[in-house]
Amino acid sequence: MNRKIVLPAFLLCLTLVLCSCDDKSQESAKPTAPRPSAAADSAPPNFPPDSGPPPSIDAERTMQSIKDVVKFGARPIGSANHAKLEKYILDHLQGDDVESDSFIADTPAGKLPVRNIIAKYPGTKDGIIVIAGHYDTNYPLRDTAYVGANDGGSTTAILLEFARQLRGKKRDGYSVWLVWTDAEEAIDHWTATDSVYGTRHLAQKWQADGTAKKIKAFILEDMIGDADLDVVKDGNSTPWLEQALYEAATRLADQSHFFTYSNTISDDHVPFRDIGVPVVDIIDIDYGYQNVFHHSPQDTVDKLSTNSLQIIGSTTLEMVRMLDQMEPLPPK
Ligand SMILES: [Zn+2]
Repeated sequence: MNRKIVLPAFLLCLTLVLCSCDDKSQESAKPTAPRPSAAADSAPPNFPPDSGPPPSIDAERTMQSIKDVVKFGARPIGSANHAKLEKYILDHLQGDDVESDSFIADTPAGKLPVRNIIAKYPGTKDGIIVIAGHYDTNYPLRDTAYVGANDGGSTTAILLEFARQLRGKKRDGYSVWLVWTDAEEAIDHWTATDSVYGTRHLAQKWQADGTAKKIKAFILEDMIGDADLDVVKDGNSTPWLEQALYEAATRLADQSHFFTYSNTISDDHVPFRDIGVPVVDIIDIDYGYQNVFHHSPQDTVDKLSTNSLQIIGSTTLEMVRMLDQMEPLPPK
């Protein structure tokens, strides 16, 4: 996800007076008041009835996975720590239907290896729901104490937890594909061509081979472990999927953690949006006061909570359950 510019305090104050947005791809400012009905900007789709026990994940186990991966240290693409993390992910997917989308990216730092990891869990319905999140960590901070507990760690871990939830169960719904995306982070600084290397490659590949047409929804998770959880309403996400996200959170009585502010987020969902796939980015970009923990060595496990992981995990699974039952899905 694109980042805040670090400014001296006096400039920061000036910036806040002028506009609370921090760069050109986060175009809208934080509103002064919460927007509890933010999901209802347009007529809501016909959601299926709220039925059955609410889904949940093992949030303690998810937190343990975050602790495991931060022990590797910084995990930028091309590093030995990244290779260790690839092995860690694959070791935890043994027996599943797993494939890699590997390639060499041209970056400002030269040619670097990129590997998206995809695990597939078949369903009974024709179509695919993708749940994705990046596992690489910030490149410019590669030689610091940075560990990316939230930014990289939380998504690596929650996808592994989703794999545990999906494994060995018959899915009465769409196939679910989990994607650990790679090279989400910029190498130098965030631009359209220096960011989301992995998903730009995967979206092109899946458009060329016909897979993209089968994807009913691309659900992205990013920075989802913050103990002070507030998921942004994102202008780059598909409106009806944002509505589905808010509806799922409401069913779990967790809606107060969603959409109290709006922004426009450049992230791994944009390449899929650009090829016509419905997308939603579940991201909290208000990480610490003024987002100070983001891309900072202070992005450590103690800033996260199992409660937040549970909220995101159960909301995501509830949204998948709703999508499974929506017939037909809204037009793209
Ligand atoms: Zn990041």
